[in-house]
Amino acid sequence: MLKVKKNTAIKEELSDGGELYFCCSGCHSVYHFVKDGGLEKFYELRKDYIPGKIKKVKVTDDLFKDDIKVIDEKTLELPIFVSDIRCAACIWLIENSISKLNGVKYVRVNYATHKMVVHYDSSLIDLNTILSTITNLGYCPIPSSLSSTNSIIEEEKRNYFIKFGVASFFSMQIMLYSVALYAGYFQGISQNLKNMFTFITFLLATPVIFYSGKPFFINSIKSLKNRTLNMDILIFMGSFFAYSYSIYAMFSGKEVYFDSSAMIITLILLGRFIESSIKLKASKEMLLLKSLQPLQVKKVYFLDEDLENITGEVHKIDDLKVGDLIIVYEGETVPVDGIVVKGVSDIDEAMLTGESIPVTKSIGNMVFSGTRNISGKIVIRAEKDFKSSTVSKIIEAIEKAQNATFKTQKAVDKIISIFVPSIIFISFVTFFIWFYMSGDFELSIINAVSVLVISCPCALGIATPLALMISTNIAARNGIIVKNGDIIEDIRGIKDIFFDKTGTLTEGKLTISNIVSFNNFDINYVISYAASLERHSDHPIAKGLLDYYEGELKNIKSFKEIPGNGIEGITYDNKTIYVGNIELMKKNGIELDERVLNLMALEQSKGQIIIFVAINGEIAGMISFKDKIKPNVKDIFEKLLLKGYNLYILTGDSEKSTYTTLSNIKDYAKIFTSLTPFEKAEIIKNFIQDGRKNIFVGDGINDAPSIKSASVGIAIGTGSELSIETSDAVIMNSNIETFLKFLNLVRFTNYTIKTNLFWAFIYNIVMIPLAATGHIHPIISAGFMSISSIIVVLNSVGLRLYRLS
Ligand code: ADP
Ligand code: MG
Repeated sequence: MLKVKKNTAIKEELSDGGELYFCCSGCHSVYHFVKDGGLEKFYELRKDYIPGKIKKVKVTDDLFKDDIKVIDEKTLELPIFVSDIRCAACIWLIENSISKLNGVKYVRVNYATHKMVVHYDSSLIDLNTILSTITNLGYCPIPSSLSSTNSIIEEEKRNYFIKFGVASFFSMQIMLYSVALYAGYFQGISQNLKNMFTFITFLLATPVIFYSGKPFFINSIKSLKNRTLNMDILIFMGSFFAYSYSIYAMFSGKEVYFDSSAMIITLILLGRFIESSIKLKASKEMLLLKSLQPLQVKKVYFLDEDLENITGEVHKIDDLKVGDLIIVYEGETVPVDGIVVKGVSDIDEAMLTGESIPVTKSIGNMVFSGTRNISGKIVIRAEKDFKSSTVSKIIEAIEKAQNATFKTQKAVDKIISIFVPSIIFISFVTFFIWFYMSGDFELSIINAVSVLVISCPCALGIATPLALMISTNIAARNGIIVKNGDIIEDIRGIKDIFFDKTGTLTEGKLTISNIVSFNNFDINYVISYAASLERHSDHPIAKGLLDYYEGELKNIKSFKEIPGNGIEGITYDNKTIYVGNIELMKKNGIELDERVLNLMALEQSKGQIIIFVAINGEIAGMISFKDKIKPNVKDIFEKLLLKGYNLYILTGDSEKSTYTTLSNIKDYAKIFTSLTPFEKAEIIKNFIQDGRKNIFVGDGINDAPSIKSASVGIAIGTGSELSIETSDAVIMNSNIETFLKFLNLVRFTNYTIKTNLFWAFIYNIVMIPLAATGHIHPIISAGFMSISSIIVVLNSVGLRLYRLS
């Protein structure tokens, strides 16, 4: 609590003779607001909310060493990010306490950014004292370098901006003198004045060529070293030829083109600057994803096994280990994937799933890194370390996809590699033909330079990657993680879409609707054995059964899952148990009499999924599960049919049950039933062999073979890790409308790429002949060149305006 001087404080005498002091009238009125509103409990609850039992946050000064700057012999400067600051009083408290320390010369805390800057004399005070003063006050110091994200593109943008700034400043001056020179050309100008002006433009153009133009020069050298010719060579040659020729012209008293050489660089830099601004914006969206994990270092509260003793420590998130117990407070981001071991809270998973309704998580539920805790305090046990947690995986996948060598891009790159030398050739030809025809060296050089500059295929170079980058970011924001960038192009020609049934088209939340026992087995007995086995399975049937059964579970000696059929296992009391469909029973020689088969048929015609339980070779029971089709499937199927897709449904479930459950869409799709996962994959492969590329959409349980076999495999919902691993894209929510949105996005992305390429090509086709025939001055060429890049950039940005639904 803050110390307040009695003589300046506001005092209130209580009826029981006690006294309360307030630092200011603000706090006083807040107290009354709380008390008079009958909310006094707030003060009790608060104890639990604010760390309370936490002894002290432990911070190692190692983490901060990299941020220290030396100001002079006696002064060091350290920026620190201070977490847990809540109001201006916190700032006051921190600033006052730190500035009182012997050796501290200066301290300021920024209210908006929570960044503190401290100057101190390291011979009088050590870093640890400063840090522990902050932690003693109840705040948490975090290295500022690790709390902010710098990006390379930001650097690139700044670089272009400075270079462009310098270039445009000098070009402006050059223009003034050039206008004077041009004017003199028509009105007569004294030779001395002309020489002086020419010399000044030479001086002004030089920094533009050698400083602002340096990136083009360096890139040209790099590409020559690699024995390739890139587009920067054209810019470099164009500006450098114009510049060198002008030096020659200056001495021989001819017209100079310093203005052109500088302007080429200025305009191209402007284009590059705009381009990298857009790229930066796109990558900020990526950073937004990254900022779900806002601090790479955070205060972590560890607990004992008994979940009682809390210690706070500052850790790099990278250092969290599987098994660590971590408190996640309200408003905080979950640092790593884990399981809730204490508390209940609403978690906002929108950044993963695109779905805005928070999900309630309680003991036993999984929480994912990057999601936000929005209501209460929970304790989680880390299931994964940071690197293998969801957010890191997603970011890794998207970055990989964005770097994908798109097929169109490969073709374009090939064109560029032929294009550049051809342009250099055309430009030489232009020079020689002009020189041969007119004998005018100057005019020939200028036309050749025009060809070089106008043909730079920058627009071609960015047409595909930029659209791809923007599109994958839009997808990510809507809960679609594109892992393989190539599919954006592949999906274009595909007509056949396969869907898994359970969990994909249906809710996949199986509830038990009927249980029957046979051969004098007790129902509870049957269920307890079935549940003991299902505990080891991920299948929706397993979840349904375990939600229902609350009794004791037996330990299992051996366990085997037979995909698409069920499971088998042996218990410690040596009972062999089978839980699964009729195929599993048949395969293992379990006899099913007439009565059992009739009962099964009856239940299946009601749309129930039926599993049998066999104990020691004898049929013991039958369990019926009810599943519902998702409400919007009919609507989505109709839309897909209208778009001309052929739809197929693959399921391991029985024919009867499937047709009843899917009754409202059974005519929209071709349905294959009673398949094992491998048979599903086989059907998909057969289609591909017939030259019919296809998409498979599955929830991931048992679907890995199909996801892998399909031309484009999409995992939907938080399916099994194996399927996510093998898929080309993951839809993080379980709504198949997201899949439809994705198809729309893909279509629009392809359209954008096509129009981008169109603009980039058409421009060259029209402009090169114009330049070669002497119709375009180099300055105008440079202008057009930039405009073509900007058109492509703007066209790609149009993707962002596009609404997915
Ligand atoms: P779908 O193709 O509809 O998604 P699956 O291939 O996952 O279905 O499963 C097909 C059938 O295999 C289920 O309907 C069920 O009868 C049986 N089965 C699969 N896994 C299990 C399991 N863990 N326990 C019991 N039965 C199972
Ligand atoms: Mg399934």
